[in-house]
Parts: sequence; C-alpha cells; structure tokens
Amino acid sequence: MSKVKYYYDQRSLSYKRIERSAWDKFRNTALFITAAALFAFLGIILADTFVESPKEKYLNRELENMQLQYRVLKDRLDDLAVVLEDMQYRDDNIYRVIFEADPIPNSIRRAGFGGANRYENLEGFDNSKMIKETARRLDILTKQAYIQSRSFDDVIDMARNKSNLLAAIPSIQPIANKDLTRIASGFGFRIHPIHKIRKLHTGIDFTAPTGTPIYATGDGVVSNDPRKREAGYGTFVVIDHGYGYETLYGHMSKANVRIGQKVKRGQIIGFVGNTGTSTAPHLHYEVIKNGVKINPINFFYNDLTPEEYEEVIIMSSQENQSFD
Ligand SMILES: [Zn+2]
Repeated sequence: MSKVKYYYDQRSLSYKRIERSAWDKFRNTALFITAAALFAFLGIILADTFVESPKEKYLNRELENMQLQYRVLKDRLDDLAVVLEDMQYRDDNIYRVIFEADPIPNSIRRAGFGGANRYENLEGFDNSKMIKETARRLDILTKQAYIQSRSFDDVIDMARNKSNLLAAIPSIQPIANKDLTRIASGFGFRIHPIHKIRKLHTGIDFTAPTGTPIYATGDGVVSNDPRKREAGYGTFVVIDHGYGYETLYGHMSKANVRIGQKVKRGQIIGFVGNTGTSTAPHLHYEVIKNGVKINPINFFYNDLTPEEYEEVIIMSSQENQSFD
C-alpha cells in the first residue's frame, strides 16, 4: 500500500494531496529494480572473486592434482634418463669395444629437434612451461631410446657375425691330446726327412698311431676331393673356413669326408696314416690365411694349459727333422 503524501500550498494556506502520475509510479519502480539488479550483480561479482564455488573448488583440486602428477612424471623421466644413459655407456664402452666398432657419436645421440616450434599448441596456458618441458623431455628420451635400440640391432648383427667368425677360425688341435704321441716337428726350417736338405716346413707334425681320428679345427667346407691322392701330402683334406682361413690335413690313412661337405669344428674328417712323402704315421697340419701358410701353433691354444703351451712352443721350435 503506497503512502499518501501532502504538501503545504502557500497560496491557499492549506495542505494539498500530492498527486502522483502513473508515469511517476512506473519510473520509481523501474529505478528500484535497476538499483536492486545492480547491487545483486555487484554482489555476485564480489562473491565470485572472493568466495570459491563448489565447482571451482573441485576444479582447483583437479588442477593441483594434475600439477602434482606432472612433477611425479618429471621425476620418473629423470629416472628413465639415468637408465638410458647407463645403456648408452655400456653400448659404447663394452659391447662396441668387444666387436671393435666405433661408439655412436654424441652428435647423433644428443641430436635435438630443429625447425618450427613443435610445442606451439601447448602455449598460452598457465601451465604451458611445465607441460612443454615434459613433452620436450619425453620426445628427447623417445628419440634416444630409438637410437639405442637401433644400435643394439647393430650389436646383435656384429655378435652373430662374430660367433660365425669364431666358429670358423681354426682353434683346436686336430689330434686329441690323449691320442698324441708328441708334436714331432713344428713350423719353420727343418731338415727334410727324405731329401735331407734344410727346407721350410709349412705345418706342424703330430705323431700318432695309424687310425687315430683327425678333427676339423673349425667350421667350414671341404674344398678338395680327398679321393685324389697327391705324391706329397698323400691322402689329404683341405677345409675352407671362410674369412680367408683354410686348413690342410695330410698323410691320412683314410679321409672321412667328400668335396663340398660342410663340417663342424671337432668333427672327424679322417684318420692318421703314412701316405705321401712321410717317414712314419703322423698328421701334417697346415693353417693358411689369405693363401699364406702360417704357424698353426697359434691356432690351438684352446686345448693347452699355459705350461703345455710353453712346452709345445719350445718343442716345435727346435730345429729337428720333420716327418713332412
Ligand atoms: Zn709335416
């Protein structure tokens, strides 16, 4: 109920009622509503600035949690970097050294990401720096891990080739120690047993009874036809080991293999005999590297203790008569 208002009219000296038009009423109401709305609006803004709504509280907690997770992630990336560095160290300083390969240059390992800003889409946020840094570290680690894994592929290849090489290189005695009478004559200048002249003896003679097994000293392929006897070597076998290595086994009583046959180290390829220019049953054993006959003494150290090795060196270097 609106109040009735009066005013004092000096002319008529009486109180008169103030007449209010409909417009006045409307204007007053409108003013009131506008003021109320303005206050309400200010109130909301103030509350919004200084008081957290439940939703804001929730979002802030989410944000804090996310920041925490990023920090944890950063620590874990640090750990990963240490593990990766250790792998790189072992790769360069152990594995590659074993296989006589060059280490991977640092310029490749540490290569960055050139060109345009690849983290542009991460910019413009409060946490941009943290997120960008994490993304960058992850990219670097991913790239380094990739380079490392490629390097290990190389190392595996090298190991595979190395094991083939190691299997091929002659490295055992062709006659077992238990069957060996003695190493009668070594590599070097010897008196030829038949021609009685000083002559280069191009192998080592192992004396053993006729029929003693002779072993292939490395993996390879038989490269001659053992059925064809020669005046000098009698019945003999040549094995091509690859990598420039060949071995020859002479004066056999009988060969156990045929031309083109693959043989493994330790496989019996024939038996000791006295064929060709030989004065007593023995095996004449040669090692040939790139077509040059070299001293086989350096190729069966596997079978010998250091003392035996020394003894063999002395024995085989004495200038006695060879069995040829
Ligand atoms: Zn000989």
